[in-house]
Amino acid sequence: MEHTKDVPCPLIAHFSWRKGGKAKGRYPIPVTAKRILIIGMVHILGTIYAGLLGLAFGSFLNVCLSRWPEGESVIAPRSHCRNCAHTLPWWENLPLVSWLVLRGRCRNCHSRIGLRYPLVELAIGALWAFSAWQLPQWGANPQSPVMEMYYGPVVLVGQMILTWLLVALAVLDADNLWLPDWITLPGAALGFAFTLLKLELLVKLTSLTGLQFTGALQHEQYGIYGIALKRLLGILAAAGMVLLIRWVYWLTRHREGIGMGDAKLMALLAAWLGLPGALLAFGLGVVMGAVLALVQLAIPSARSQSERWALSKLPLGTFLCLGGVVSSLWGQPIVAAYLRWAGF
Ligand SMILES: [Zn+2]
Repeated sequence: MEHTKDVPCPLIAHFSWRKGGKAKGRYPIPVTAKRILIIGMVHILGTIYAGLLGLAFGSFLNVCLSRWPEGESVIAPRSHCRNCAHTLPWWENLPLVSWLVLRGRCRNCHSRIGLRYPLVELAIGALWAFSAWQLPQWGANPQSPVMEMYYGPVVLVGQMILTWLLVALAVLDADNLWLPDWITLPGAALGFAFTLLKLELLVKLTSLTGLQFTGALQHEQYGIYGIALKRLLGILAAAGMVLLIRWVYWLTRHREGIGMGDAKLMALLAAWLGLPGALLAFGLGVVMGAVLALVQLAIPSARSQSERWALSKLPLGTFLCLGGVVSSLWGQPIVAAYLRWAGF
Protein backbone atom coordinates (compact mmCIF):
# COMPACT_ATOMS: atom_id res chain seq x y z
CA MET A 1 0.00 0.00 0.00
CA GLU A 2 1.19 3.48 -0.79
CA HIS A 3 1.86 5.07 2.58
CA THR A 4 4.31 7.59 3.95
CA LYS A 5 4.70 6.03 7.36
CA ASP A 6 7.96 7.68 8.39
CA VAL A 7 6.34 11.11 8.79
CA PRO A 8 3.88 11.17 11.69
CA CYS A 9 2.19 14.39 10.63
CA PRO A 10 2.67 16.47 7.48
CA LEU A 11 2.29 19.72 9.42
CA ILE A 12 5.07 18.80 11.85
CA ALA A 13 7.20 17.61 8.95
CA HIS A 14 6.58 20.95 7.23
CA PHE A 15 7.66 23.08 10.18
CA SER A 16 10.70 21.00 11.06
CA TRP A 17 11.62 21.10 7.37
CA ARG A 18 11.46 24.91 7.47
CA LYS A 19 13.63 24.92 10.59
CA GLY A 20 16.04 22.49 8.94
CA GLY A 21 15.07 19.72 11.34
CA LYS A 22 15.38 15.98 11.00
CA ALA A 23 12.25 15.48 8.96
CA LYS A 24 13.79 17.40 6.05
CA GLY A 25 13.28 15.63 2.77
CA ARG A 26 11.32 12.76 4.29
CA TYR A 27 7.97 14.06 3.19
CA PRO A 28 7.18 13.04 -0.36
CA ILE A 29 7.50 16.37 -2.14
CA PRO A 30 6.19 17.58 -4.61
CA VAL A 31 3.38 18.81 -2.46
CA THR A 32 2.71 22.50 -2.20
CA ALA A 33 3.12 24.24 1.15
CA LYS A 34 -0.55 25.15 1.10
CA ARG A 35 -1.55 21.56 0.58
CA ILE A 36 0.71 20.42 3.43
CA LEU A 37 -0.87 23.02 5.67
CA ILE A 38 -4.39 21.88 4.86
CA ILE A 39 -3.52 18.19 5.28
CA GLY A 40 -1.81 18.94 8.59
CA MET A 41 -4.74 20.95 9.90
CA VAL A 42 -7.16 18.16 8.93
CA HIS A 43 -4.90 15.65 10.65
CA ILE A 44 -4.62 17.62 13.91
CA LEU A 45 -8.24 18.82 14.01
CA GLY A 46 -9.42 15.33 13.08
CA THR A 47 -7.44 13.89 16.00
CA ILE A 48 -8.82 16.44 18.47
CA TYR A 49 -12.36 15.92 17.19
CA ALA A 50 -12.06 12.12 17.45
CA GLY A 51 -10.73 12.50 21.01
CA LEU A 52 -13.61 14.75 22.10
CA LEU A 53 -16.13 12.47 20.43
CA GLY A 54 -14.45 9.58 22.27
CA LEU A 55 -14.93 11.33 25.63
CA ALA A 56 -18.65 11.74 24.88
CA PHE A 57 -19.02 8.11 23.80
CA GLY A 58 -17.02 7.03 26.85
CA SER A 59 -19.49 8.92 29.02
CA PHE A 60 -22.37 7.11 27.31
CA LEU A 61 -20.54 3.81 27.80
CA ASN A 62 -20.42 4.51 31.56
CA VAL A 63 -24.21 4.80 31.59
CA CYS A 64 -24.43 1.47 29.73
CA LEU A 65 -21.94 -0.24 32.06
CA SER A 66 -23.94 0.82 35.14
CA ARG A 67 -27.36 -0.04 33.74
CA TRP A 68 -26.85 -3.15 31.54
CA PRO A 69 -26.02 -5.50 34.45
CA GLU A 70 -29.18 -4.27 36.24
CA GLY A 71 -31.29 -4.73 33.13
CA GLU A 72 -32.20 -1.01 33.04
CA SER A 73 -32.79 1.17 30.00
CA VAL A 74 -29.79 3.24 28.90
CA ILE A 75 -32.00 6.01 27.48
CA ALA A 76 -34.44 6.88 30.27
CA PRO A 77 -34.30 8.16 32.98
CA ARG A 78 -31.66 10.88 32.59
CA SER A 79 -28.21 10.50 34.16
CA HIS A 80 -28.49 10.42 37.93
CA CYS A 81 -26.48 9.52 41.06
CA ARG A 82 -26.61 5.73 41.61
CA ASN A 83 -26.88 6.36 45.36
CA CYS A 84 -29.40 9.18 45.89
CA ALA A 85 -31.05 9.38 42.42
CA HIS A 86 -30.17 13.10 42.20
CA THR A 87 -30.54 14.02 38.49
CA LEU A 88 -27.32 15.47 37.06
CA PRO A 89 -27.46 18.91 35.43
CA TRP A 90 -25.38 19.13 32.24
CA TRP A 91 -22.36 20.62 34.00
CA GLU A 92 -22.15 17.69 36.42
CA ASN A 93 -22.25 15.36 33.46
CA LEU A 94 -19.23 16.54 31.44
CA PRO A 95 -16.77 13.75 30.67
CA LEU A 96 -13.61 13.83 32.88
CA VAL A 97 -14.05 17.49 33.84
CA SER A 98 -17.05 16.98 36.14
CA TRP A 99 -15.44 14.06 37.96
CA LEU A 100 -12.32 16.16 38.61
CA VAL A 101 -14.27 19.27 39.68
CA LEU A 102 -16.53 17.24 42.00
CA ARG A 103 -13.43 15.33 43.22
CA GLY A 104 -15.12 12.00 42.58
CA ARG A 105 -18.12 12.60 44.85
CA CYS A 106 -21.83 13.22 44.27
CA ARG A 107 -22.67 16.91 44.89
CA ASN A 108 -25.90 15.98 46.64
CA CYS A 109 -25.14 12.97 48.88
CA HIS A 110 -21.28 13.03 48.78
CA SER A 111 -21.11 9.31 48.00
CA ARG A 112 -18.08 8.24 45.98
CA ILE A 113 -18.24 8.12 42.19
CA GLY A 114 -15.95 5.25 41.18
CA LEU A 115 -12.65 5.75 39.40
CA ARG A 116 -14.12 3.65 36.60
CA TYR A 117 -16.07 6.66 35.28
CA PRO A 118 -13.14 8.93 34.37
CA LEU A 119 -10.98 5.94 33.34
CA VAL A 120 -13.52 4.64 30.81
CA GLU A 121 -13.99 8.15 29.38
CA LEU A 122 -10.26 8.67 29.16
CA ALA A 123 -9.73 5.23 27.58
CA ILE A 124 -12.27 5.79 24.77
CA GLY A 125 -11.13 9.39 24.21
CA ALA A 126 -7.44 8.45 24.05
CA LEU A 127 -8.00 5.35 21.87
CA TRP A 128 -10.14 7.25 19.38
CA ALA A 129 -7.74 10.19 19.22
CA PHE A 130 -4.79 7.82 18.76
CA SER A 131 -6.61 5.87 16.04
CA ALA A 132 -7.28 9.11 14.15
CA TRP A 133 -3.70 10.31 14.62
CA GLN A 134 -2.24 6.99 13.50
CA LEU A 135 -4.34 6.86 10.35
CA PRO A 136 -1.79 7.33 7.57
CA GLN A 137 -4.27 8.34 4.93
CA TRP A 138 -5.31 11.91 5.72
CA GLY A 139 -4.77 13.02 2.12
CA ALA A 140 -1.02 12.69 2.56
CA ASN A 141 -0.42 10.76 -0.62
CA PRO A 142 -0.61 13.12 -3.59
CA GLN A 143 -0.98 10.19 -5.96
CA SER A 144 -4.23 8.93 -4.53
CA PRO A 145 -6.32 11.59 -2.82
CA VAL A 146 -9.43 9.45 -3.40
CA MET A 147 -7.87 6.73 -1.29
CA GLU A 148 -7.50 8.93 1.77
CA MET A 149 -10.80 10.72 1.36
CA TYR A 150 -12.89 7.56 1.42
CA TYR A 151 -10.89 4.63 2.72
CA GLY A 152 -9.30 6.37 5.70
CA PRO A 153 -12.53 7.44 7.41
CA VAL A 154 -14.08 3.99 6.91
CA VAL A 155 -11.05 2.35 8.55
CA LEU A 156 -11.26 4.88 11.38
CA VAL A 157 -14.98 4.30 12.02
CA GLY A 158 -14.33 0.54 12.17
CA GLN A 159 -11.49 1.03 14.64
CA MET A 160 -13.71 3.28 16.79
CA ILE A 161 -16.54 0.74 16.91
CA LEU A 162 -14.12 -2.09 17.75
CA THR A 163 -12.34 -0.23 20.59
CA TRP A 164 -15.68 0.89 22.07
CA LEU A 165 -16.92 -2.72 22.09
CA LEU A 166 -13.67 -4.05 23.55
CA VAL A 167 -13.57 -1.50 26.40
CA ALA A 168 -17.24 -2.28 27.14
CA LEU A 169 -16.61 -6.04 27.27
CA ALA A 170 -13.39 -5.61 29.27
CA VAL A 171 -15.20 -3.70 32.05
CA LEU A 172 -18.25 -5.98 32.03
CA ASP A 173 -16.07 -9.08 32.43
CA ALA A 174 -13.88 -7.48 35.11
CA ASP A 175 -16.88 -6.27 37.14
CA ASN A 176 -19.40 -9.05 36.57
CA LEU A 177 -17.53 -11.93 34.86
CA TRP A 178 -20.09 -11.41 32.11
CA LEU A 179 -19.60 -11.26 28.34
CA PRO A 180 -23.17 -10.84 27.03
CA ASP A 181 -24.01 -12.77 23.86
CA TRP A 182 -26.00 -9.82 22.58
CA ILE A 183 -22.75 -7.83 22.34
CA THR A 184 -20.25 -10.49 21.23
CA LEU A 185 -22.38 -12.16 18.52
CA PRO A 186 -23.68 -9.01 16.73
CA GLY A 187 -20.19 -7.53 17.28
CA ALA A 188 -18.67 -10.47 15.40
CA ALA A 189 -21.24 -10.15 12.57
CA LEU A 190 -20.49 -6.43 12.30
CA GLY A 191 -16.75 -7.08 12.11
CA PHE A 192 -17.28 -9.61 9.34
CA ALA A 193 -19.47 -7.18 7.36
CA PHE A 194 -16.96 -4.37 7.88
CA THR A 195 -14.07 -6.47 6.58
CA LEU A 196 -15.95 -7.15 3.35
CA LEU A 197 -17.05 -3.50 3.06
CA LYS A 198 -13.44 -2.30 3.35
CA LEU A 199 -12.39 -4.79 0.72
CA GLU A 200 -15.12 -3.76 -1.71
CA LEU A 201 -14.03 -0.16 -1.22
CA LEU A 202 -10.39 -1.03 -1.97
CA VAL A 203 -11.43 -2.78 -5.16
CA LYS A 204 -13.49 0.27 -6.23
CA LEU A 205 -10.55 2.54 -5.46
CA THR A 206 -8.20 0.34 -7.45
CA SER A 207 -10.38 0.64 -10.52
CA LEU A 208 -10.77 4.40 -9.95
CA THR A 209 -7.11 5.26 -9.39
CA GLY A 210 -5.31 2.48 -11.21
CA LEU A 211 -3.11 2.03 -8.11
CA GLN A 212 -2.57 -1.42 -6.62
CA PHE A 213 -3.53 -1.78 -2.96
CA THR A 214 -2.57 -4.84 -0.93
CA GLY A 215 -6.14 -5.85 -0.08
CA ALA A 216 -7.26 -5.44 -3.66
CA LEU A 217 -4.50 -7.79 -4.80
CA GLN A 218 -5.83 -10.41 -2.37
CA HIS A 219 -9.24 -9.86 -3.87
CA GLU A 220 -7.92 -10.61 -7.35
CA GLN A 221 -6.38 -13.83 -6.06
CA TYR A 222 -9.30 -15.25 -4.07
CA GLY A 223 -12.39 -13.24 -5.07
CA ILE A 224 -14.80 -11.74 -2.58
CA TYR A 225 -16.34 -15.14 -1.71
CA GLY A 226 -12.93 -16.67 -1.21
CA ILE A 227 -11.95 -13.93 1.24
CA ALA A 228 -15.30 -14.13 3.03
CA LEU A 229 -14.84 -17.90 3.38
CA LYS A 230 -11.28 -17.44 4.66
CA ARG A 231 -12.45 -14.97 7.28
CA LEU A 232 -15.32 -17.27 8.32
CA LEU A 233 -12.91 -20.19 8.76
CA GLY A 234 -10.69 -17.90 10.85
CA ILE A 235 -13.67 -17.03 13.09
CA LEU A 236 -14.52 -20.73 13.54
CA ALA A 237 -10.89 -21.63 14.22
CA ALA A 238 -10.50 -18.88 16.86
CA ALA A 239 -13.68 -19.88 18.69
CA GLY A 240 -12.89 -23.57 18.23
CA MET A 241 -9.46 -23.14 19.82
CA VAL A 242 -11.05 -21.76 23.00
CA LEU A 243 -13.66 -24.55 23.03
CA LEU A 244 -10.86 -27.11 22.71
CA ILE A 245 -8.95 -25.59 25.66
CA ARG A 246 -12.20 -25.55 27.63
CA TRP A 247 -12.82 -29.22 26.87
CA VAL A 248 -9.27 -30.33 27.74
CA TYR A 249 -9.42 -28.36 30.98
CA TRP A 250 -12.72 -29.94 31.89
CA LEU A 251 -11.37 -33.44 31.16
CA THR A 252 -8.31 -32.92 33.36
CA ARG A 253 -9.63 -30.74 36.22
CA HIS A 254 -13.38 -31.54 36.09
CA ARG A 255 -14.09 -27.84 36.41
CA GLU A 256 -14.95 -25.00 34.10
CA GLY A 257 -11.75 -23.11 33.40
CA ILE A 258 -12.69 -20.88 30.51
CA GLY A 259 -16.14 -19.60 29.66
CA MET A 260 -18.30 -19.89 26.54
CA GLY A 261 -18.28 -16.09 26.48
CA ASP A 262 -14.52 -16.18 25.85
CA ALA A 263 -15.06 -18.36 22.76
CA LYS A 264 -17.58 -15.84 21.35
CA LEU A 265 -15.20 -13.00 22.19
CA MET A 266 -12.48 -14.76 20.20
CA ALA A 267 -14.95 -15.05 17.29
CA LEU A 268 -15.50 -11.27 17.51
CA LEU A 269 -11.73 -10.62 17.52
CA ALA A 270 -11.16 -12.91 14.53
CA ALA A 271 -14.02 -11.24 12.62
CA TRP A 272 -12.44 -7.79 13.03
CA LEU A 273 -8.72 -8.62 13.08
CA GLY A 274 -8.43 -11.87 11.14
CA LEU A 275 -7.07 -15.10 12.64
CA PRO A 276 -3.45 -13.89 13.13
CA GLY A 277 -4.67 -10.72 14.87
CA ALA A 278 -7.02 -12.72 17.10
CA LEU A 279 -4.25 -15.20 18.02
CA LEU A 280 -1.97 -12.30 18.87
CA ALA A 281 -4.70 -10.84 21.10
CA PHE A 282 -5.09 -14.26 22.78
CA GLY A 283 -1.33 -14.60 23.37
CA LEU A 284 -1.03 -11.07 24.78
CA GLY A 285 -4.13 -11.56 26.94
CA VAL A 286 -2.90 -14.85 28.43
CA VAL A 287 0.54 -13.34 29.19
CA MET A 288 -1.04 -10.27 30.84
CA GLY A 289 -3.39 -12.48 32.89
CA ALA A 290 -0.50 -14.73 33.97
CA VAL A 291 1.63 -11.73 34.99
CA LEU A 292 -1.24 -10.35 37.08
CA ALA A 293 -1.81 -13.75 38.70
CA LEU A 294 1.90 -13.98 39.63
CA VAL A 295 1.87 -10.45 41.06
CA GLN A 296 -1.18 -11.37 43.15
CA LEU A 297 0.60 -14.50 44.34
CA ALA A 298 3.72 -12.52 45.26
CA ILE A 299 1.81 -10.09 47.48
CA PRO A 300 1.64 -11.66 50.99
CA SER A 301 -1.89 -10.52 51.85
CA ALA A 302 -3.21 -12.12 48.69
CA ARG A 303 -1.13 -15.28 49.23
CA SER A 304 -2.68 -15.98 52.62
CA GLN A 305 -5.92 -16.45 50.75
CA SER A 306 -4.16 -18.45 48.09
CA GLU A 307 -6.46 -21.44 48.41
CA ARG A 308 -9.42 -19.25 47.65
CA TRP A 309 -7.33 -17.49 45.02
CA ALA A 310 -6.55 -20.74 43.21
CA LEU A 311 -10.29 -21.26 42.78
CA SER A 312 -11.11 -17.65 42.02
CA LYS A 313 -11.85 -16.74 38.45
CA LEU A 314 -9.62 -14.30 36.61
CA PRO A 315 -11.60 -12.32 34.05
CA LEU A 316 -9.85 -13.81 31.00
CA GLY A 317 -12.21 -11.83 28.73
CA THR A 318 -10.83 -8.56 30.11
CA PHE A 319 -7.29 -9.58 29.19
CA LEU A 320 -8.41 -10.80 25.75
CA CYS A 321 -10.01 -7.38 25.17
CA LEU A 322 -6.81 -5.57 26.21
CA GLY A 323 -4.85 -7.86 23.90
CA GLY A 324 -7.39 -7.11 21.16
CA VAL A 325 -6.89 -3.36 21.53
CA VAL A 326 -3.10 -3.74 21.24
CA SER A 327 -3.52 -6.13 18.31
CA SER A 328 -5.88 -3.77 16.46
CA LEU A 329 -3.47 -0.83 16.83
CA TRP A 330 -0.07 -2.52 16.35
CA GLY A 331 -1.01 -6.02 15.14
CA GLN A 332 0.50 -5.81 11.67
CA PRO A 333 4.00 -4.65 12.73
CA ILE A 334 4.06 -7.13 15.65
CA VAL A 335 3.01 -10.11 13.49
CA ALA A 336 5.45 -9.05 10.73
CA ALA A 337 8.31 -8.72 13.24
CA TYR A 338 7.48 -12.14 14.71
CA LEU A 339 7.40 -13.80 11.29
CA ARG A 340 10.78 -12.21 10.43
CA TRP A 341 12.22 -13.40 13.72
CA ALA A 342 10.83 -16.91 13.25
CA GLY A 343 12.43 -16.96 9.82
CA PHE A 344 9.35 -17.06 7.56
ZN1 LIG B 1 -25.84 11.20 45.23
